[in-house]
Amino acid sequence: MTRRKLLQGLLLASVGGFFARNGIAAPPASMKDIENLQKNWRALLAKDFKAPPPSEPLKLSKEEWRKRLDAEQFQILREEGTERPGSSPLNDEKRPGVFICLGCNLPLFTSEMKYESGTGWPSFFTTISGVFGTRTDYKLIWPRTEYHCIRCGGHHGHVFDDGPPPTGKRWCNNGVALKFVPKSGAV
Ligand SMILES: [Zn+2]
Repeated sequence: MTRRKLLQGLLLASVGGFFARNGIAAPPASMKDIENLQKNWRALLAKDFKAPPPSEPLKLSKEEWRKRLDAEQFQILREEGTERPGSSPLNDEKRPGVFICLGCNLPLFTSEMKYESGTGWPSFFTTISGVFGTRTDYKLIWPRTEYHCIRCGGHHGHVFDDGPPPTGKRWCNNGVALKFVPKSGAV
């Protein structure tokens, strides 16, 4: 075994141990596994949940959004706010199911795409395909990649390059911007 292979093995073993300790199914080891998670996301969708397609935009005026959302939801989804770390009950959500956009119900992530990043925000290493748009924001000193729901334009969070392998991505999402639909259908 080469030193490089040994190091890779150790890295995978420690990531695997991390997932096992947190009661999560073994993490995907290759990009092929990631593609399968993306392809098979509907397996985690509750039977009676009608998911809107990403191709059907939901466009509302600022006033209409204000009526639909509470003050915190409006501030995060429509004004790119950020919730306090550790404040979302979704940090601890570990049941099988799908995370949908609070603004428009578009399915965004599955429970199998979630991991414990230790940041205090719900974190995912990949997303359901084609559900987010991104752009660079300069609100802090360094540029960050902002992402938003492709269907309603609602702001969800930022994506960083310090996630677990094989994607190396951390989709850092405001819990306030999400709703969880358990596979069992019981909310
Ligand atoms: Zn949306």
